[in-house]
Amino acid sequence: MKVLVINCGSSSLKYQLIDSDTEEALATGLCERIGIDGRLVYQPAGAEKEKTDLAMPTHNEAIQFVLDALTNDKNGVIKSLDEVGAIGHRIVHGGEKFTKSVVITDDVIKAIEECNDLAPLHNPANLIGVRTCQKLMPGKPNVAVFDTAFHQTMPAKAYMYGLPYEYYEKYAVRRYGFHGTSHDFVSHVAAEMAGVDYKNSKIIVAHLGNGASISAVKNGECQDTSMGLTPLEGLVMGTRSGDIDPSIMEFIAGKEGLDIAGVMNVLNKKSGVQGLSQLSSDFRDLEEGANAGNEKAALAMDVFAYRVAKYIGSYVAALNGVDVIAFTAGIGENAPAIREKVLSYLGYLGITLNADENNRRGEDRLISTTDSKVKVFVISTNEELAICRQTVALV
Ligand code: ADP
Repeated sequence: MKVLVINCGSSSLKYQLIDSDTEEALATGLCERIGIDGRLVYQPAGAEKEKTDLAMPTHNEAIQFVLDALTNDKNGVIKSLDEVGAIGHRIVHGGEKFTKSVVITDDVIKAIEECNDLAPLHNPANLIGVRTCQKLMPGKPNVAVFDTAFHQTMPAKAYMYGLPYEYYEKYAVRRYGFHGTSHDFVSHVAAEMAGVDYKNSKIIVAHLGNGASISAVKNGECQDTSMGLTPLEGLVMGTRSGDIDPSIMEFIAGKEGLDIAGVMNVLNKKSGVQGLSQLSSDFRDLEEGANAGNEKAALAMDVFAYRVAKYIGSYVAALNGVDVIAFTAGIGENAPAIREKVLSYLGYLGITLNADENNRRGEDRLISTTDSKVKVFVISTNEELAICRQTVALV
């Protein structure tokens, strides 16, 4: 079956058409600047990327352009939309209502809307994608795959904050966690590569991208994860602060004359390694800077790696041991220096690094030595393929 995977944001939309039999992406791309001016990026597998400026006042036009590109005579990858069997949508927040992916019905849309409060920037945009696909491809099944669902197995001791209980009851304030599709996908691959039974294993996944989170997975169920009510908690990220003393907010607001929205903007967009280094949120720039003697760039990388190592250490406690650690996403997959720095704190676990494998580029691989007590892997995440698989399983 061919599955259209849609990740719809407020002014952009990423898509892939995947053949679920071969698990190959037939075409990938994105629409940018929806509601502003509009640009379509379309890349059929094995061919040149095509960028076209097209007026996209709403998501309706954007998705129509995607469908036209997929079916056009010149470089389309399908003859007609009849070939699309289903559409899989990334939905950011499923609250406590959704513990797994579901086929979208009117009731499901209502339930997702009830979670809008928890992700006011993301969920409404995700739903625009759903409604537009329903309109432009009537009768095709749409499936919702939630960023939060994988983490719903966390026990209350992991998801409750030390806050008045009524905030949980009245406003559903608790830890939810994000990147669930990736943690799910990568933990499965890690168990398979390690040759352990997923249902009888202790796995820590470090999803280190621009947004970054860690999860502790025991016997195939998430026990804890570093992001919280929102993706701001946990690791030091590209531009997000991660964990800080909450009192800093009041302190900075007073000193800088900021209101709560101003402080949140600093914590989300001007902090993390970008804020620390005053150079860049991208680890390629930080490495280059650090190698050229930029001390703040080197400090940002140290702070980042130290926080990751501390979280891994705490999750070893949460799991009472660990069999496998997996690094994934942009930094996890591509920054050997960061992996090495993180693992340098974990020698007490009996982890030894295979430097050649760590420094090599390429496919999913073991980067610990064969006698290391814990197996450490680099695994490329593929959230779109995971969404495709779950869509096929449900339709
Ligand atoms: P997201 O999906 O959260 O936007 P990604 O998982 O795509 O993020 O990761 C993007 C980040 O990965 C970049 O900001 C950069 O820091 C890092 N990255 C990508 N390639 C490399 C590389 N070759 N070396 C070091 N870091 C890299």
